[in-house]
Amino acid sequence: MSEPQADNDAIPSTPALPSSEAEWRSRLSPEAYRVLRERATDAPFSGRYTHPGAPGRYRCAGCGAELFDAASQYDSGSGWPSFTAPVDPEHVELREDTSHRMVRVEVACARCGGHLGHLFPDGPGPAGERWCINSTSLELDPGSADFVD
Ligand code: FE
Repeated sequence: MSEPQADNDAIPSTPALPSSEAEWRSRLSPEAYRVLRERATDAPFSGRYTHPGAPGRYRCAGCGAELFDAASQYDSGSGWPSFTAPVDPEHVELREDTSHRMVRVEVACARCGGHLGHLFPDGPGPAGERWCINSTSLELDPGSADFVD
């Protein structure tokens, strides 16, 4: 895992990042630690954000960085929250993932390095992207929705 970018000015200020894995372990629930820090995957259809719901901004469950707007969420039928785009490409980091005998694009939080999910090229939007993200990696902030009149 690459080093987190703790001083990324592009991301609004959020609580200080843990400086060790032990500190991450004490801050996160065991489930969140497994997904964010050990790259585990939520069982399909098990997560609280599987289907689109309330408006707001999804923040990183590890560090609070804004990652996805609920307005970009759609129901992919995959069993995981799916988005057409992140709120800002600088808020996410893409890495090649060759685990499980597949070549996939892993999506991580650019601020804390936490594992979020994967990016697939079969989405419905203009860019054809499906950002397939674990519910456990997200925390919906209903107060930071974009309101359009
Ligand atoms: Fe994060």
